[in-house]
Amino acid sequence: MTTVPPPAVPAPEPISPVQAAALRDGVLPPVEEVRPGTWTLAVPFRGGVPDATLTYVLEGADGALTVVDPGWAADDRLEVLRASLATIGHTVDEVGLVVVTHLHADHLGAAAALRRASGARVAMHRLEVEALRREREDAAANDADIAGWGLPDELFAGVVAAWGSGRRIGLGRTEEPFADVFVEDGDVLPVAGRELRALWTPGHTAGHLCLVDERDGLLFTGDHVLPRINPGIGLGGRTTSNPLGDHLASLARLEPYADLEVCPGHEYRFRDVGTRARALARHREERSRHVAAALDALSAPTLYEVASRVPFSGGIGSMRGFLLASALTQTAFHADLLGRADEVRRA
Ligand SMILES: [Zn+2]
Repeated sequence: MTTVPPPAVPAPEPISPVQAAALRDGVLPPVEEVRPGTWTLAVPFRGGVPDATLTYVLEGADGALTVVDPGWAADDRLEVLRASLATIGHTVDEVGLVVVTHLHADHLGAAAALRRASGARVAMHRLEVEALRREREDAAANDADIAGWGLPDELFAGVVAAWGSGRRIGLGRTEEPFADVFVEDGDVLPVAGRELRALWTPGHTAGHLCLVDERDGLLFTGDHVLPRINPGIGLGGRTTSNPLGDHLASLARLEPYADLEVCPGHEYRFRDVGTRARALARHREERSRHVAAALDALSAPTLYEVASRVPFSGGIGSMRGFLLASALTQTAFHADLLGRADEVRRA
């Protein structure tokens, strides 16, 4: 689940002109062969284009297909996948494995339907399944946080509806959360004749995975690193560690893969993940400086007062609901990483 604010840092050049053109024109990009036996296709969001998930299809040596992030769960989405597979001479029946980078509906959503249609196994990180199982509890616990943020009265109900117990539960699921294969950091996924290795990259969500295919020079980044969108952090349930600290460490983990072509979960493919990861990290450092300056300037501020001094794109005054909750929680992560969480007053 992502939002599309204006780019906070310079965006890398697209590798794929058709994906970049589709993004510009607000249409679905066509199916593309990325490497022999590896394709990318686009599955629209529930509301349709312009927003779409980039889904990847990898053919194993045994002919079985692996699908990375099958996209939204809306009823007709398997039809999009069926039609896209038909253009490359394949069918849903051939899918043997579905790998999900993280629990959000635009990545995990169609996994259950695809599993039913094909008999494929679904693989994801254990923490994502646990977060989905805990979802209602987490949302109820968020209510207590929200009550302490110092929100203006007129914004409170909207934030509870988007972030707390008032939300429509179901980050990514259409049924009881499950995985057939729990994927841990460093695991090689069961794709015949290929070496598709999992890289655990918590931050956006606690169990977010990237996938490394060194042979074909591909790095599948889900929503950890996208070319233009600055991925939100801590958007996958409550965690014991600071998602911002996790995110920064996960960005640093990408440095060894600078030569690989980046296959993100949205937008377009690009090169040089290290430059993009460093730009995202610098953006976070800058935000930390703004949070520090706000804490220096204010005496016993509420979280809302601190965030009001941080130059979020569009400004916090324009934010409601989910965006506002995300901005406030990110402000809290920054304060915590600065070791200054105790300077923020609970309202
Ligand atoms: Zn996404």
